[in-house]
Amino acid sequence: MTSTGRALPKVLLHEHLDGGLREQTLLELLDARGLPCPGPDAAALGRWFDARAHAGSLVEFLRGFDLTVAAMASLPALERVAFEAAEDARLDGCVLAEFRIAPLLFESHGLAAEAAVEALVAGLRRSSLPSGLIVCAMRHLPPTETLRAAQLAVAWHGRGVIAFDLAGAEFGHPPGEHHEALERARDAGLALTLHAGEADAAERVLEAARLGATRIGHGVRLADAIGDPARQALVEEAIERGIHLEVCPSSNVHTGAARSIAEHPIVALWRAGVSLSFHTDNRLMSRTTASQEADHLLAHTPLSVDDLVRMELEAVRHSFLGTDARALAQRAIEAWRDATKNDGSRIGS
Ligand SMILES: [Zn+2]
Repeated sequence: MTSTGRALPKVLLHEHLDGGLREQTLLELLDARGLPCPGPDAAALGRWFDARAHAGSLVEFLRGFDLTVAAMASLPALERVAFEAAEDARLDGCVLAEFRIAPLLFESHGLAAEAAVEALVAGLRRSSLPSGLIVCAMRHLPPTETLRAAQLAVAWHGRGVIAFDLAGAEFGHPPGEHHEALERARDAGLALTLHAGEADAAERVLEAARLGATRIGHGVRLADAIGDPARQALVEEAIERGIHLEVCPSSNVHTGAARSIAEHPIVALWRAGVSLSFHTDNRLMSRTTASQEADHLLAHTPLSVDDLVRMELEAVRHSFLGTDARALAQRAIEAWRDATKNDGSRIGS
């Protein structure tokens, strides 16, 4: 039977391409590059990632990325991974998707970042799913490097690249450290979505917003300010600014940003009136899909199908894709909502 999460038309705003490979693809790519693989087959590889996801250690969790980036470091591999990510999202019931990656990571493997972006965009375009690419910069690197990533994103603006992001270890690397890169992207008309409030405090969410981010990756620590007289103004400012949180429930549990799905701050933030939606972050590392994230929320939190539909509509409103793609996605979600309402069984249950 199709789950409600699968049937719901979904808008995917936060998924890392180097965190979402198919196991079989990763196996083949490692083999093609002659790199050692942690398991003899796709199932064993899946178990290896499963163990990393539940190790309770961010260091262990991040080890998976060394493996995927090394495996992806050829132009055909990048194109394949991007294409398969879009296809997987489409087959999972997504109606619009934005994928992200840090192209400069491939330079140490001998690939020019410009060529990497070209291959990724070509891969996404091979799928019929409306999608776009967000260029990430790694925030633990010097500002000269993030500026280079921003310049790359600007060069591809309007040719498949839709936004700029700061990813990587958040704590100790506030967004303000990279203000020059952010200004460069913003001045060129590129949208900003920044990882913030995942491993650092609620204040970072507002710092990112004041630097021009209209969306925030995670932002879950903003929930700490709810009902705190000294910090409630942060929540109010987030709402006033209309920022949208891209919440990734399973990922937050795996990296320690939330204790469990049942105790995840997504409910408190949503009830407080913050615009947000739910996403996968890293399908491979977190052993999840967009449908499963929806099903987890329905099973373990008080959120209803109606809440999830409204989150999807918020996600459409904040997508960086063009008006045509957003209008199509909105119609698909509304049509599903209306059909389910008429069906009488699921909405609001
Ligand atoms: Zn992320």
